Amino acid sequence: MTWPPLLRLQEALGPGAELVVVGGAVRDELLGRPHADWDLATRLLPRTVMARAQAAGMKVIPTGLQHGTVTVILEDRPVEVTTFRSDGDYLDGRRPESVRLGVDLTEDLSRRDFTINAMALPVGGGDLVDPFGGRGDLKAGVIRAVGDPLKRFAEDGLRPLRACRFAAQLGFEVEPATLAAIPERLEVARKVAVERVFVELDKLLRGLEPQRGLALLAESRLLDLWLPELRAMVGCGQNRHHAHDVWRHTLEVVRFVPAEPFQRWAALLHDAGKPGARSVGADGEVHFYGHEARSLELAEGIFERLKASHALRKAALALIRHHGTHPTGAWGDAACRRLLGRLDADGLELGRWAAFRVADQRAKGLDWDLRQAEHQALMARLEALLAARPPLSVRDLALDGAALMALAGRPGGPWLGELQKRLLEAVLDDPAANTTVGLAELVKRELPSNRK
Ligand code: ATP
Ligand code: MG
Repeated sequence: MTWPPLLRLQEALGPGAELVVVGGAVRDELLGRPHADWDLATRLLPRTVMARAQAAGMKVIPTGLQHGTVTVILEDRPVEVTTFRSDGDYLDGRRPESVRLGVDLTEDLSRRDFTINAMALPVGGGDLVDPFGGRGDLKAGVIRAVGDPLKRFAEDGLRPLRACRFAAQLGFEVEPATLAAIPERLEVARKVAVERVFVELDKLLRGLEPQRGLALLAESRLLDLWLPELRAMVGCGQNRHHAHDVWRHTLEVVRFVPAEPFQRWAALLHDAGKPGARSVGADGEVHFYGHEARSLELAEGIFERLKASHALRKAALALIRHHGTHPTGAWGDAACRRLLGRLDADGLELGRWAAFRVADQRAKGLDWDLRQAEHQALMARLEALLAARPPLSVRDLALDGAALMALAGRPGGPWLGELQKRLLEAVLDDPAANTTVGLAELVKRELPSNRK
C-alpha cells in the first residue's frame, strides 16, 4: 500500500534499516485519505542514511542532522527520513531539550502525540506496528493521547490544539480523558508561538467538520487563549430571525461556507461584533445595530495578532464588510449596481459573496427553504446586471483623469476626485451615459458649480 519509489530507498539503505512509514502518512493511508508527505523512520543513523542514499544516486539534503532527519528526494518529492529517536526533557513546553537517537521503533512511536499518529508501516511489507491501539481508535474515530494526556500536554503546549485540529479534519471525537486534560494545561498551551497556533487554527477551519473543532476549542477553553474576543458570542441570544445564539450560528456558518480559508475565517469572525452591539428595543426585540463595523475591528485585531497573511486578511475582511447587505426584489437596478460596485472595490467576486450569504442565511436555522427561490431570483438578476459589464468604478469611466482635466482646462486637484465620484454615481444610475460624449455633457453641467 505504500508508494513504489520508497522501495528503491529501502533497497539503497539495506535490510537492516527497518525502514517504516510513520505518522500522518500511515493514518491517512489507513483512512484512504490523500496526504502530501511521506514521513519515514529508520534504525540507521542520519549519516549512514545520507551515505547510502547518495551512493545509490539519490539527492539528499541534511535537513536536521542533530534531530536525526535527512531529506531524500524521490521522483522530485522531498521525503523526510528520521532516525528512531526519543525526546529528552521538555523544559519550555515547546520543544525537547535534546533528542536521543538509537532507540527502538516502539520508543520512537511512544513520543508521538496521538495513537492514530503513532503507528508504523514497514516499507518492504509486513504487519502494521501499532503498540498503542491506533488502528482501533481510527476505526472508532477517536483522538487519544499516547500515554498520560496530562503529562503529554505538559511537555508540549501545541498538542491540545492539534487534538482539536485532528477532530475537525477527520470528524473524530476527542477521548474524554484527553479532552479533560486540556483545561488543566492551558498555561503550557499559552506559550506556543503564534505562527504555529495560526497554522493549526487554519487547518482546523479548513477541516471536514470545522464546527466540531471550534466547539472543542470553546469547551476546552483554548479559545480564551488565542481568540478571547469570541467568548462573548457563546450564549449571546438573538432575535426572531435566528434559531440559535451567536456562537452556534457562527459554527453553522463556518460549516456551510466553502472550505476556502478566507470563507472559513470570515465565517468565524463575521458576527464577533454582535455581543458588543446588542441592544433591546422598547418592544423587547433584540438588535445588533452596527455590528458589522465592530466585527471588522475585532477581526482586524485578531488577524494582526495571529500574523495572518495580507491576502487572507483582505479577502476575509471584504466578506465580513459586506455580509450585512441584504438586497431584495424591491431594489432597483441602480442599487444593485452600487452593490456590485462595492464588491468590486473590495476585490470580492459576486459568486463568493453569494456563497457566504447562502451559508449565513441557512445558518439562521429558520425558513431558508422558503427563501431560497427569492435568493436565486436575486442572484440571476445581479449576474445579468454584471454580465452587461456596467461601469462600477472610477477607472471604468469613459473619460479618464487626464481627459477630464483637459475638458475642464484645470490642473488636477481635489475637485477632480469629487467630479469623478459624481460621474460614477451618474453612470451607476444610467450606464448608457458612460460614453465620451455623454460624460462630456455631464461635466459641462457639473463644472459651473464646481468652479471656485
Ligand atoms: P499533517 O501533516 O496532515 O498535518 P501529521 O500527523 O503528519 O499531520 P506532522 O506535523 O506532519 O503531522 O507530524 C508528523 C508526525 O510527527 C505526527 O503524525 C506525529 O506522529 C508526530 N508529531 C508531530 N507533532 C507532534 C507533537 N507536537 N508532539 C508529538 N508528536 C508529534
Ligand atoms: Mg505530516
